[in-house]
Amino acid sequence: MKMPDFKSITYQRPSLELFRECVMRVRLKIMTAHSPEVIEGALVEFQKALGEFETAAALCRIRHDLNTKDAYYQAELAFFEEAEPMVSELSSGLYSALLNSEIAESLKTNLGNMIFLKAQNRKDTISREVIEDLAREAALENQYDQLVAELLVEFEGGKYPLGGIQPFLESSDRQQRKQAHLALATSFSSIKETCDDIFAQLVHLRTQIAQKLGYKDFVELGYRRMERYDYNESDVEAFRNFVVENIVPVTTEIRRLQRLRLEQDNLKYYDLPILFPEGNPVPKIAAADFPKAAAAMFRKMFQKEPSFYDVLDTHEFTDLLTRPNKTQGGYCMTLPDYGIPFIFMNASQTADDVSTLIHESGHAYAAIRSIDSSMFLECLSPTLEACEVHSTAMEFLTYPYMESFFGEEAGAYRGLHMTRTLLFLPYGCMVDEFQHRVYRSPEMTCEQRHEVWKELEAKYQPFLDYDQVGFYQQGCAWHKKGHIFTSPFYYIDYCLAQIVALELWDLAENDMKQALQTYDQLCQEGGNDTFLALIEKAGLSSPFSLDTLKRILYKACDYLSL
Ligand code: ZN
Repeated sequence: MKMPDFKSITYQRPSLELFRECVMRVRLKIMTAHSPEVIEGALVEFQKALGEFETAAALCRIRHDLNTKDAYYQAELAFFEEAEPMVSELSSGLYSALLNSEIAESLKTNLGNMIFLKAQNRKDTISREVIEDLAREAALENQYDQLVAELLVEFEGGKYPLGGIQPFLESSDRQQRKQAHLALATSFSSIKETCDDIFAQLVHLRTQIAQKLGYKDFVELGYRRMERYDYNESDVEAFRNFVVENIVPVTTEIRRLQRLRLEQDNLKYYDLPILFPEGNPVPKIAAADFPKAAAAMFRKMFQKEPSFYDVLDTHEFTDLLTRPNKTQGGYCMTLPDYGIPFIFMNASQTADDVSTLIHESGHAYAAIRSIDSSMFLECLSPTLEACEVHSTAMEFLTYPYMESFFGEEAGAYRGLHMTRTLLFLPYGCMVDEFQHRVYRSPEMTCEQRHEVWKELEAKYQPFLDYDQVGFYQQGCAWHKKGHIFTSPFYYIDYCLAQIVALELWDLAENDMKQALQTYDQLCQEGGNDTFLALIEKAGLSSPFSLDTLKRILYKACDYLSL
């Protein structure tokens, strides 16, 4: 198939009726078939219908996000918001039939075990009785997203959305930085009660859903939803303990050195984002020239011309620059029928632009490399920690090329990136422990939750000095973290991914060719196995191994001369 330009792809709303008919037909075939061939043929038919649906959904999402004022795609998006839960439930029913098939065991030989694990997981996490609750949960999550998206920060006579205030939070002028942080706290204070209320409802609702599905509490269901097939709560707890005992002291030292560099007696919370007195490094080339620089970098890195990035760029499967009426944030989304990922982001000339572009490119590279790895769309990408290894590792593997973005400041950028990696680990674990505490005791009041957060801040970020700002003193900082509201238990995935990515970085420091081969192998496997199995197959070690953790931490500290 000749690769189309993104613009030339025709969008058509998929028919839910035809999809339902297809599911019924395929289900019946699975239930009555006595030969694996018949079932495999039926599954191919279902995958074709699912692919069409998901391709249209992705196309609609991207086109909407490129211009949120486009009324046509607004209406189409509303269609998908209603259609997606139905498609999900129909698929779940179909896979239940597969699980119950008399020849399930012999099917595993050809189809692989992963789709069966996923089928069982769907059965364990969705049922008719909770469909309405799930819709309510999604509505509450949207309510939080909407609230934060509409939040304006009043600063220096202007009103800024959260994305717009970002450069001021990193200003090298301390007074301006302090005022920007105060303004941010003030605007979050104005929605404090609403945030607390939304979260309280979410905690109760999620607990209810968990109990209806037969779980003790939402912690158990949360792990199932995140598809943790080969590690459990105690593995995660041991990981967090390692971070508290070994990484928190390192971050305290990072903060002490930062204070000395900034020549301050006290490092206040508003000083934390800025690492160098002259400000954090910013790209030396205009955002409009990022595509050219990225394309050249990936050509050199993978020694391939054109590189995957050239191809995406030429066919306009990238949209990097920020502009009015474009959705905030960045992501990589694949059109399954074409097997092509789209890179979406909002570059605005900060160091984060470069890491975001490379991060999303990592997701895109993995999507392209794994496109033929499974007959099941559901198994093309792995679970989320593994996906985040694809993207985060790319950030480290591109270290040698940062001169083309940051010129003489490339070294400072690498230092900033590595420092942020270490600082993130305790923060990520704190968010994770907070959620365990909250969902273990769903009867807690809002005030009690704030107390827990304060207690955890003292444990994971002992250097914090909130300068008497009420909003933070009261233990409300977590209101700013969307994942706590909308993606429960997702956060530890980033921490686990960072450790594996750091292992690849360490490998690259010694032998880049070998590191790229290992990375490529991991990407090619797609989602054909569970997280730890994929890591092991690629020849990497488990992020839960204490020896690995110690070794990686030592290398990272050495790199930063700590
Ligand atoms: Zn990512």
